[in-house]
Amino acid sequence: MSQSEAVRKHKEFLFPAVSMYYAEPIALAKGEGHYVWDDQGKKYLDAFGGVLTVSVGHANPHVTAAVIKQVQTISHTSTLYANAEQSNLAEKLASIAPGELKKTFFTSSGTEANETAMNAARVATGRLDIITLRHSYSGRSLQTLAGCGQSGWKKIPLPVAGIKHAHAPYCYRCPFGAKDDSNCSLECANDIEELILTETGGEIAAFMAETVIGSGGFIVPPKGYFARATEIARKYGGLYIADEVQTAWGRTGEHWWGVDHYGVKPDIMVSAKGMGNGAPVAMTIATPAVADKYPGITFATYGGNPVSMAATRATMEVIESQNLLQNCKTTGAYLGQRFAELKEKHALIGDARGIGMMQALEIVSDRKAKTPDAKAVAVVFEETKKRGVLIGKGGLYGNVIRTGLMLNAGRSEVDEMVDAIDAGLTLAAKVANTASTSNATNA
Ligand code: PMP
Repeated sequence: MSQSEAVRKHKEFLFPAVSMYYAEPIALAKGEGHYVWDDQGKKYLDAFGGVLTVSVGHANPHVTAAVIKQVQTISHTSTLYANAEQSNLAEKLASIAPGELKKTFFTSSGTEANETAMNAARVATGRLDIITLRHSYSGRSLQTLAGCGQSGWKKIPLPVAGIKHAHAPYCYRCPFGAKDDSNCSLECANDIEELILTETGGEIAAFMAETVIGSGGFIVPPKGYFARATEIARKYGGLYIADEVQTAWGRTGEHWWGVDHYGVKPDIMVSAKGMGNGAPVAMTIATPAVADKYPGITFATYGGNPVSMAATRATMEVIESQNLLQNCKTTGAYLGQRFAELKEKHALIGDARGIGMMQALEIVSDRKAKTPDAKAVAVVFEETKKRGVLIGKGGLYGNVIRTGLMLNAGRSEVDEMVDAIDAGLTLAAKVANTASTSNATNA
């Protein structure tokens, strides 16, 4: 039984659907840098960052100072008045965003930002249909939920028309049977053309995709995927919405944006999460051609909130001054190599994949059949927790271990995390062997 009053009250007074990790959930009470403490005083390496959101460390002094200063100056304006933090951040984003993305609408969550993007595309093109991806996650409003490609999130009625799901660029489980790069002809991208010609009237409003499918298990599309997918989408009148909620702010290494790895230029780009180091802030940035067509008057009470804006500015200053785009590349490469070594050691790992500081392990009970093994993931979860490391999970089958160390993590944090996962996998293999032996005895 959990000793935590916070956990007890969470269970009693929150919607049960707001579920928590671990057989005995924990309540986090304090954070500093790469570490958090639960309310029983136990310390953990935070290797998930509240879902890739705490990007430059808990209680980062530079971000904290900016937030405190802003709260003491003015903490709310609404979008009915300009404020310098909002205007300056929008100007900065216009200078670093890909291509012609120049005008921003700030909101408070990825859901709102994607909702804005979908509305903008539909209005700008005058068309309804939006192509999204299977295995994707785009938010919890009706429209964004309809865009999701995982049944677990979609348990409520979704009376939303005009969303069509293309196959995911999921190389490990290639929907077109390609075994590896050598026989990949980007069928997943090519199939979007048939999807449009059979499922729509032959014209679409947008193709919307996460650059790396995050909650779906860090599925990294093959090189060339976005060039081909967006070429098809544009042929049929569609805009390209890049969902960079997880992949922005340098997380994929070297570049500010995940899409920069693919050399494609979105018409609309969305981000949130790591943007404000935990502040509830999101953005939808669009080309003037799209932004200028957004209809009517629109309003977001917390849009461009000066405190969230200051948190974002300060987070970006830390990323720039500490050269974290480069750190994500080099430390991410080291992590990728350590995960590749784990794969050599543990038969439970079917796939080790990722980009930059966004690395995952897909766990299977049988490598050949690729049978998802969510039970083994649960064992790894409990063991890593015991060893003081917090990790994440995801994937349609709940069998992918996702890791999101801070952007400023180094080799020592990587080693601490990988060693804990290593121990967890060793235990999971033992548990699986014991179970199969005892089953055999029972039989
Ligand atoms: N898009 C992606 C890619 C996400 O990962 C998420 C959140 N997991 C969202 C959108 C929705 O963001 P939020 O939870 O802030 O509404």
